[in-house]
Order: sequence, then C-alpha cells, then structure tokens
Amino acid sequence: MSVRPRVLLFDLDGTLVSTGGAGRRAMIAAMVEVFDAADAFEGFNFAGMTDRSIVRAGITKARGAATDADIDRVLDAYLPRLESELASTPHYRVFPGVSDVVHEVTRAGPGVAVGLGTGNVKRGAYAKLARSALGSAFSFGGFGCDAEDRTELIRTGASRGAEALGEPLAACRVIVIGDTPRDVAAARGIGAACLAVATGPYTRAQLQEAGADWCFETLEGPEAAEILLGS
Ligand SMILES: [Mg+2]
Repeated sequence: MSVRPRVLLFDLDGTLVSTGGAGRRAMIAAMVEVFDAADAFEGFNFAGMTDRSIVRAGITKARGAATDADIDRVLDAYLPRLESELASTPHYRVFPGVSDVVHEVTRAGPGVAVGLGTGNVKRGAYAKLARSALGSAFSFGGFGCDAEDRTELIRTGASRGAEALGEPLAACRVIVIGDTPRDVAAARGIGAACLAVATGPYTRAQLQEAGADWCFETLEGPEAAEILLGS
C-alpha cells in the first residue's frame, strides 16, 4: 500500500513535555535582566504563543512598545538562563505516550518526515528536549526564530519536511500535533490537519471546539500513531 508522503510537526510545551515552569522562569529573569521589568508577564498565559510574541507582549506591557532589537536582547538573555533552569528544574516531565508515539512515527520509514512545530526558538527547543533525549527524533522543524506568527513558522516547518522527503509540499499530508487552539489555528492556516492533546492547559472539549480534527486526553495507546501514519 502506498501512503501519501507526510510531514508531522509536533508542538513542544504541553504536547511533548512540561519543563515545570523553567521556560517561564527564564523569560521572567531575562526581562528583569534587560529591562528591569519584574512583572512583565504577570497574569499572562504563554500557551501556544511564540517566543518572540511572548517577549513582545512583555516589553510592550513594561515599556509601551518593542522593537525587534529589544526582543533579540531579551531572547539572548533568556537562552542561557533557560539552559540553567532546565538543568535544575525538579518537575520536568515527558507526557504519557509521547515516547512511544515519537518512536513509532520516526521508525515508520521513508515518506514520513517528523519535525517540530514550536514557538520556541531553535536553541531553546532543543534545550527543552535534551533532558528527555527526545531531541534526536526531530531532524527539522519550524521554530520561533523562523517567524513571530505561529502560522508562518508552521508553514516553514512543513516546507522543510517536504524538502527532506524530496516532495513538493502540495503532495504531502501535513499534520500538526499540539495542545492549544493556537496550534489548531496554525494548522488550519496552512490547510493542515491537527491532532490535539489535552496535556496542556486546554480540555479536549475546548480543543474540539477550536476545530481540531482529533482530540485525545494523552498520546497513550495506539490510536494517535495510527492516525499520524494512516491514510
Ligand atoms: Mg504547546
């Protein structure tokens, strides 16, 4: 049976792992370091946002407006802090079923490109996966350093996946795996499907409402891999 070539793009935070707040703590510390703004992210939900959009919102709250150079400075301060937070965070965890699903899809053979579709900048994304040794499963991605807008970074990730397969993007089935309505919207924005998982801050019902094609409580069990690899 020949199956249409496919590109799978996994979101990171809330979908693959939880860093136990390491990312948030590093962002807050970076804003204090660069702009002396301690409450820039108070009451602010990072879920589904890209790194650049998070920093832009924080700087805008603290100072009224943000330039791209301001955002770069905060991200430069954020990355080493993230790496040290990740080394010491006690609550890092990989969500149930993730290792099995990732293992299965990466072993599926030619015609399946497995990448990341995450708002994290690339260095931050791989730092967050290093502790679980999951990073090596994802040879490409669309990242928060590719675009501030999530739909655009998903488009970039999808194009890289198609390129890795040696296929035109239009010939590929693209599936985004994510935990927020923003993942669903980004998938929709490029005409991709979205498998949503309620391991982040949103319930299955909310993800269904947002228009996800499939919704699971966790990635445990055979169904998710069947969908990701099925025709
Ligand atoms: Mg997420």
